[in-house]
Amino acid sequence: MSSNDNNSNAYSDFHLQFIGGEWQKGKDDSINTDTNPYNGDTIVEIQQATKDQLDEAYDAADQAQAKWAKTTPAERAAVMYKVVSILDQRQDEIVDWLIKESGSTRIKAMVEFSSARAITLEAASFPNRVHGEIRPSNTPGKENFIYREPIGVVAVISPWNFPLHLTQRSIAPALALGNAVVLKPASDTPVTGGLLLAKVFEEAGLPKGLLNVVVGSGSEIGDAIVEHKAPSLVSFTGSTSVGQHIGELANGGEYIKQVALELGGNSPFVVLKDADIEQAVKAAAFGKFLHQGQICIAINRVVVEDEIYDDFVERFLAHVKTLNVGDPNKQDTAVGPIINEKQLKSLKDKIAKAQDEGAKMILSGEIEGQVVPPHIFTEVTREMDLSCNEVFGPLVGIIRAKDEDDALSIANDSMYGLSSAVFTADMQKGLRFARGIRAGMTHINDISVNDESNTPFGGEKNSGIGRFNGEWVLEEFTRTHWISMQNEPRQYPF
Ligand code: NAD
Repeated sequence: MSSNDNNSNAYSDFHLQFIGGEWQKGKDDSINTDTNPYNGDTIVEIQQATKDQLDEAYDAADQAQAKWAKTTPAERAAVMYKVVSILDQRQDEIVDWLIKESGSTRIKAMVEFSSARAITLEAASFPNRVHGEIRPSNTPGKENFIYREPIGVVAVISPWNFPLHLTQRSIAPALALGNAVVLKPASDTPVTGGLLLAKVFEEAGLPKGLLNVVVGSGSEIGDAIVEHKAPSLVSFTGSTSVGQHIGELANGGEYIKQVALELGGNSPFVVLKDADIEQAVKAAAFGKFLHQGQICIAINRVVVEDEIYDDFVERFLAHVKTLNVGDPNKQDTAVGPIINEKQLKSLKDKIAKAQDEGAKMILSGEIEGQVVPPHIFTEVTREMDLSCNEVFGPLVGIIRAKDEDDALSIANDSMYGLSSAVFTADMQKGLRFARGIRAGMTHINDISVNDESNTPFGGEKNSGIGRFNGEWVLEEFTRTHWISMQNEPRQYPF
């Protein structure tokens, strides 16, 4: 039994849409059946939304935003602080939801909860951090003012892997900065990726219409949410292929809009020959297998310098064999279920392909239901599928690098550039190596999985456009407006 099943105050009913501040039934014929990926239980059935309901959500957002933008910073900050306090009160309940809906292990659910809380707290500071500028002018008698204003209505599309946090890191800053939001959560996680947060913001007193959660199928509302006239910014987090499609829609249609794209990754984890191997082994296991490897910044390639390759592999294998696999609800489970059957099939295909391509499988195990135990492959080359593509599962290939230069070349040999990591005893070498990697984020002597609410999170190359957190998201979710004031009659040439 979950810790909150006896709590009559607990959020339990999530079969409705949240549009214009009202909970209403979806009007589409289709139903989203939300299931527990570990045991297959149906959690909730949601009648999906139609395009008309999406329009309704955008109308509500548009109207509410105009008023919200005029509120004082203190009013907006107060809502964010209230949200933090509700998150704290409901922490156990939210963690339970993450476990049952997204297959998060208890450890991962706690990590995710903390990240979502941290960005909400950071967002509470945003209303008072927005500021403009005064710039000199070359025109006599002119003053230049640069105002920073809310961007308007923001469309948010979020994925299923860190649903609570990856939704909240868009919607909390957006709202704090005076915008309104229309959110489409991922179909696998409509509750933790949207409806639950709608309840929290409602309880915190967010005025009606500012946050709308529309649960619908990609075919009915997928393109429409991007193409609609209302949003000035589309904040998308998900795969590179869908992100490319969204980018085209947002810039090639009738209404041009800004896009923030947080896409796929292929993080290298490099172990140089002078590294603390024991520490690198533990880091590699956590950075690879947290949430079954279903994290955009999860370790995707382990690259080890030749001289320590065999030693690293032996110790890594021994350590990974000790990980508990199975029920995500158990305190000590490290590896829980894969989100859905489609992802499971893609992992089975990858296991087969790795063997076909000549990688040596040194650890495997029985796949039970949607639980895939860790699989380790050695003698992996940079050309193999495991190296070139995002794995998004508990499979890992270990690549042998001839030396430091070769390791750097392998690390950069990817169309992605999200996160990365390097282990070395020499910090100067680590810094040099880190700066040589074309990525948005690199961590020396730590894993690629790091996210702090005050540091820029985002990628290069096909990993996306834009940055989350701190002043980077503050800029992204506002617009600049240059206003000049001509204080004396200007002399025109004609
Ligand atoms: P996905 O691209 O399949 O789906 C993401 C979201 O887009 C979902 O809400 C989905 O319903 C929606 N969507 C799908 N087709 C759409 C369309 N045509 N129009 C509008 N919306 C559409 O990704 P996923 O499987 O949910 O998530 C896994 C992927 O996300 C991985 O590639 C991972 O690396 C990436 N990801 C990136 C980050 C990051 O910060 N860079 C974070 C988490 C996940």
